[in-house]
Amino acid sequence: MLRVGLSGGIGSGKSTVAKRLADLGAVVVDADRLAREVVAPGTPGLAEIVSAFGDGVLDPSSGALDRGALAALVFSDDGARAVLNGITHPKIAARTAELVESAADDAVVVHDVPLLVENGLAPMYHLVLIVHAPESVRLERLVLRGLGEEDARNRMAKQADDVARRAVADVWLDNSGAPDQLLARVDELWAERLTPYEANVRLRRYAGGPPKVVPYDPTWPAQAERIGRRIAFAAGQRRVEHIGSTAVPGLAAKDVLDFQLGVSSLEEADELAEALAAAGFPALGVGHDTVKYGDPADWGKRLHAGTDPARRVNLHLRVEGGPGWDWALRFRDWLRVDEAARREYEEVKLRLSRAHAGDAEGFAYGDAKEPWMAAAVGRMAAFYRDGQAS
Ligand code: ADP
Repeated sequence: MLRVGLSGGIGSGKSTVAKRLADLGAVVVDADRLAREVVAPGTPGLAEIVSAFGDGVLDPSSGALDRGALAALVFSDDGARAVLNGITHPKIAARTAELVESAADDAVVVHDVPLLVENGLAPMYHLVLIVHAPESVRLERLVLRGLGEEDARNRMAKQADDVARRAVADVWLDNSGAPDQLLARVDELWAERLTPYEANVRLRRYAGGPPKVVPYDPTWPAQAERIGRRIAFAAGQRRVEHIGSTAVPGLAAKDVLDFQLGVSSLEEADELAEALAAAGFPALGVGHDTVKYGDPADWGKRLHAGTDPARRVNLHLRVEGGPGWDWALRFRDWLRVDEAARREYEEVKLRLSRAHAGDAEGFAYGDAKEPWMAAAVGRMAAFYRDGQAS
C-alpha cells in the first residue's frame, strides 16, 4: 500500500486531481467529506457539538448542523475551537484509519487533505502531491464555480503560502494551464511513479538505478529536509542527518540522498526495521562500514534504501555517537569547508564513475573510492586538530 497526501490551496484543482486518481484506481479518502460525515444528523459527533455549544448551532428546519452559526461561535475563540476540534478530529482520524485499513494491500490510497501543510501532516505519507495555480487564477475559477469573491479571498488568506507548500511537495503539479495538461501529468505520474512505488513498498524492493555522477543539484538540501522528516517520523522522531556527497554544497555526486538515523544499538536498529520498511525504506541487510580506525566491532550498521522510483535514498542506521556516525558527519563537514579536498574528491569520483559505468548498483564504485577515503583519515584528523584546510 502506498499512502499519498494530496493538497493545495482552495481552487487549485485538488478535487480535479483526486477524481482523476480515483478513475485510475486509487482509493481516495476525502478529509472534507469525512469532516461533514462525522457531524451529520443522527451522529454522536453532532450530539456532542450540541451539548457543548447549544441548540443554536442547529438549523431549526432540517436539524442539521448550521455551519455558519458554529463558525461564528468558534471563529475568534481559541478555547471554543479547541473544544470543537476535540470532538471532530479524533472521529475524523478514526474514520480515516478505518478506510485506510479496509483498502486492499496493493492500493494507492490518496488522502485529499486541504490543511495538510497547515497541520504538519506531510511526514506521514510516502509521497506528497501539491496542486498549484496562481492566486488570481484560483479566484477566477472559484468565482466561476459560484463562490463569492470575498469568501474565496478570506479562505485563501487563512491557508499556508506557496513557500510552505513547496517545502513539503515531492511532486508539484502546476495547474495554471488547461485541465487536459493537468490530467496528462496525473496519468503520467500514476503510471511512472505511483504504481511502481506502491509495488516497491509492498514487496520491500528498493529503487536502484545507474550510478552516474551528476553536477551538484541545489535542490538536494530541500529534498533531504523533506525526506529526513519522513524518516524521523517513521522512526519515532530519532535523529536524522543528511550525509554523503549530496550534503556538500557544490560537490558533484550520484543522485542518491544519503541519511543516517541515530540508534542506541544495532538491536534497536533491527526493531525499527519493520516501521522503516512500511514507510518505504526497507532493509538491504546487515552490514558494516569500512573500518577506518579502532575496534572493527564498533563499525557495524544497518543499511536501508528508499523505494520511490524517482528518488534514490540510502539510509544508514548507526549508533549515534559511534565511530561510523561521527565519521560520516566529520567527513561531510570537512568537505563543506575544505575546498581543495572537495575538488580532489570530486575528481576521483568522476574518474571512478566513468570506470564503473557498467556497474548497475554502484557498489564497485563505492569500494573503489575507499583508498581515497582511507587516505582522508589523516587529512581530516589534521584538519580538525589544526582547524585549517589541507
Ligand atoms: P480544489 O479542490 O483545490 O478547491 P477544484 O478541483 O474544485 O479545486 O477546482 C476549482 C475549480 O476550478 C473547479 O470548478 C474546477 O472545475 C476548475 N478547474 C480546475 N482545474 C482547472 C483548469 N486547469 N482550468 C480551468 N478550470 C479548472
